[in-house]
Amino acid sequence: MAKKKVQTKKKVETKKRIQIKKKVPKKKETKKREEVKFIGQVTRIRQTDPATVIEWPRTITHVHTYGMLSPFFEGLKKGELRATLCSNPKCAEKRLWIPPRAHCPDCHTEMVWKTLSNPVIGKIYAFTRVVYAGTGIELSTPYWQVDVEIPDLATIPKSYLLYGEPRIGMKVKAEFRTRKPTNTVLDYYWVPYEQ
Ligand SMILES: [Zn+2]
Repeated sequence: MAKKKVQTKKKVETKKRIQIKKKVPKKKETKKREEVKFIGQVTRIRQTDPATVIEWPRTITHVHTYGMLSPFFEGLKKGELRATLCSNPKCAEKRLWIPPRAHCPDCHTEMVWKTLSNPVIGKIYAFTRVVYAGTGIELSTPYWQVDVEIPDLATIPKSYLLYGEPRIGMKVKAEFRTRKPTNTVLDYYWVPYEQ
């Protein structure tokens, strides 16, 4: 009888030990489970009948260099209209170019920069009412697109009238978006100039 009891005791002890071992708390996993997440924009359902149609916005970033014409855009940010001029003394074209050209269209010589003195006053040569702008036009419609004659220029650059009504021959003054510039050609525009 006594022998049996001892055996039982031993068994109990072994069981206890096992239980103790089991009770040792496991190290908590601090690392969070990594899951694949949806980072896009939820589409809008336009219709479901007769088939599901979703609006799925798509955009691209067009990387564009201004290259040798960069000084023109740097000028706009400072409130300056900069033009290019042929540096070849033998070239017949002595007038300025806006939009600027890196090389003379007549003799292909590299051009030099000239800043027009402010205020730049021009005359409206032609105008168009833009009511339905094409994709990518970042001006509110309707607006007046104006072609402006600027003294000493070989070209008649196109821009827009910020406010007012244009007429042929009307004097206008160049102004600049120096605060929050767009870094595009939209950073200069014309306003009516009355003396
Ligand atoms: Zn030239």
